[in-house]
Amino acid sequence: MLRQRPSIPADLPAPTGRLVDSRGRPVKDLRISVTDRCNFRCVYCMPKAVFDKDYAFLPRESLLSFEEITRLARLFAAHGVTKIRLTGGEPLLRRNLERLVAQLAAIPGMEVTLTTNGVLLPRKAAALKAAGLARVTVSLDSLDDATFRAMNDMDVPVADVLAGIDAATAAGLGPIKINMVVKRGMNDHEIVPLARHFRGSGHILRFIEFMDVGSSNGWRLDDVVPSAEVVRRIGAHFPLEPVDPNYTGEVAERWRYADGGGEIGVISSVTQAFCSTCTRARLSTEGRLYTCLFAQSGHDLRALLREPRSDAELSAAIGAVWQARDDRYSEIRTAATAGLRKIEMSYIGG
Ligand code: SAM
Ligand code: SF4
Ligand code: SF4
Repeated sequence: MLRQRPSIPADLPAPTGRLVDSRGRPVKDLRISVTDRCNFRCVYCMPKAVFDKDYAFLPRESLLSFEEITRLARLFAAHGVTKIRLTGGEPLLRRNLERLVAQLAAIPGMEVTLTTNGVLLPRKAAALKAAGLARVTVSLDSLDDATFRAMNDMDVPVADVLAGIDAATAAGLGPIKINMVVKRGMNDHEIVPLARHFRGSGHILRFIEFMDVGSSNGWRLDDVVPSAEVVRRIGAHFPLEPVDPNYTGEVAERWRYADGGGEIGVISSVTQAFCSTCTRARLSTEGRLYTCLFAQSGHDLRALLREPRSDAELSAAIGAVWQARDDRYSEIRTAATAGLRKIEMSYIGG
């Protein structure tokens, strides 16, 4: 039988002062994976050969409850976190997610966002908006139906994602960021068509370099299309000019169409590491705290939650993990590190 869970404190714990890691980086963003399951099997994330064979998805009782997630989020807020991104796996598969959104959005000063493959947005967008969700990011790797079906490997048509983007826009969750992971030889022929499609829409298309996250996607450096090449290829059709970052440490480098057709972003995690300004913590589906997307192990906060420990003890544990943080994987990536056993993105939260 589960022990009685501690209730959420009515007030935020006292501020803990400026928490920084061993490289002087504060904690500002918290990514929370609310499920390790997904209705897609993207070849670069959850390849069928691994995830439909002997992969052990988490049993329901392993998952943090909404109350447990919210309690931790409040403690992170006291340490300086102002943005939460719900992710997974596919976060919209978690039942009643809007209830969690409402609890998190009620934390003073907290902005709550979500990354999704988009197919459940027609059903969920309005409720998420009403619950206080600020924005959504939708992943879309191709407009060409055959390419898209091959990449999600579940035969899901592009039209389902476009309907999700429309639903989110109609619900007031725009402008929407659209994430395209570019894999050479698979969807790089879709870079310019996607740019053309979203130009002038108000949405912001962002190109992500294919990363060696997890241990199952068969990553090779040759499959990475450098962001500089993406900018060059789009610029040859639609001239682009650089835009200043919105804030220090912004992950996406911004570019705008010279003719006023809006802007795009490029995320160069492989060719231009941004570890020196990385302020992101990750909470896995079962409550492990990771200080890097490429970490090989995490810190078990669920055990502390369920013992149960006081807010002060939990807060001190979080602070100690962050203070000891030394991660800078993308700066030291080599062919050898790419082969290390790492946590899957669907578990740690993309
Ligand atoms: N299922 C949701 C989705 O696809 O938007 C949220 C979770 S997904 C793991 C979060 C983001 O990680 C997506 O934009 C996805 O494209 C990206 N991603 C997954 N595997 C990746 C990889 N190997 N390299 C770069 N980005 C990746
Ligand atoms: Fe699922 Fe997102 Fe991973 Fe694709 S990228 S398999 S949609 S979690
Ligand atoms: Fe942050 Fe780790 Fe990515 Fe570097 S490699 S930017 S430390 S998550």
